[in-house]
Amino acid sequence: MKKLLVIVLTLLIFSCNKKQKEEPQISLDIAKEEVPVEVIEFGYNLNDYLVQRDTVKSGDSFGEILLNHHIDYPKIAEIAAKVKDTFDVRRIRVGKPYTILKTKDTTEKAQVFIYQHDNINYTVVDFKDSLVNAVKYKKPVTVVEREVSGIIETNLSDVALQNGIDYDVINGMSDIYAWTIDFFRLQKGDRFKVIYKEKYIEDSIYAGSGEIVAAYFEHKGEPFYAFRYENDSILGTVDYYDDEANTLRRAFLRGPVKFSRISSRYNLRRRIALYGNRVRPHKGTDYAAAIGTPILATANGTVTKSSYTRGNGKYVKIKHNSTYSTQYLHMKDRNVKVGDFVKQGDVIGWVGMTGNTSGPHVCYRFWKNGRQVDPFKQKLPAAEPIKPELKEQYLEFVRPLVYKLDCIPFEDKVEDQEEFITEMIDTPESEDKTNETYNATINRQSK
Ligand SMILES: [Zn+2]
Repeated sequence: MKKLLVIVLTLLIFSCNKKQKEEPQISLDIAKEEVPVEVIEFGYNLNDYLVQRDTVKSGDSFGEILLNHHIDYPKIAEIAAKVKDTFDVRRIRVGKPYTILKTKDTTEKAQVFIYQHDNINYTVVDFKDSLVNAVKYKKPVTVVEREVSGIIETNLSDVALQNGIDYDVINGMSDIYAWTIDFFRLQKGDRFKVIYKEKYIEDSIYAGSGEIVAAYFEHKGEPFYAFRYENDSILGTVDYYDDEANTLRRAFLRGPVKFSRISSRYNLRRRIALYGNRVRPHKGTDYAAAIGTPILATANGTVTKSSYTRGNGKYVKIKHNSTYSTQYLHMKDRNVKVGDFVKQGDVIGWVGMTGNTSGPHVCYRFWKNGRQVDPFKQKLPAAEPIKPELKEQYLEFVRPLVYKLDCIPFEDKVEDQEEFITEMIDTPESEDKTNETYNATINRQSK
């Protein structure tokens, strides 16, 4: 038995590609002539200029900034007019970084103004010659794949914080698993692994996370795999499926608002102090969210009501098919009218507190055959399954990803595992020769 364990463990460890330590590069010291290193940024050799970096402050204007760098008013007006189609100088925003390249002589006159819209996009306004021009650029973005794992101690946000995982990735996972795992009720010890893309500018500046390639979530000891797959190469649509090609989605979203918490569930025996502790059934699910949060249609359908009552406030009702309808209450504003066809995820209104409510939330009501039911208790129809002709191809596609996921350790305790093996192999040799290779590995280890 012990021997078997050893083999299994060894298999686990040796079957996963451990990253090879890179050979140290031998560097040759060759005497070189002293040449100043070129520092190229935004397409300019910064050595040729005095470089001034700053951010737009409250009250700053393009004119004032340039004035401070020795450009006179007529020139500023000329620049603003000439570049207005590419760059509206009135639109510079507080907090945005900019760089000014100035002459290296005593005049220290601005020559180039570079405005950074975000980490990736920037505009270069060049006025060093009489020819004034503005050009928009994008910094080249490198996409890398990152593999991380986490174990829930308190909640998902804490794990994300501790492991340096972008919160967008956590949100992405809660979307992928919306119907499989209740992210509001995770348990201590639940754990996950995720492979996702990260964007970097100039190979070093983090510029946000990209798509989730594959994920593994273990909830109450049950494993759930998810893989991103392009299910229509012509439309370019993607969706997530599990390791057996089942869709992870339902025809309905789990809830009508993202990033919110359920403040009150469907409960026919709810008692409310305000009403003398009498039973006041709650036939909706309340999602607390900030005023103005978009409310999403949970499934495709046609708007049958978009109106106002004293109790419901501003509300919308959507008929999805002959069986299901959904209703959304207490909106600040409605975004649809009766007869509109809406698709799953469309914004139909915004969270408010109109009607009979004590705080901002959306009361989500789920109707089945004309009766209000608890959506979480329903066996809801699954979203469209993977096309049968794609299934084989899909399974082929995910095989290496399953392997990759399985190889991500939960904690960096590989060394402990190796020690554990060394201890175990002191047991007498067994007759088990089912796998020569792995036995050989064990023998080599024990010496
Ligand atoms: Zn409610």
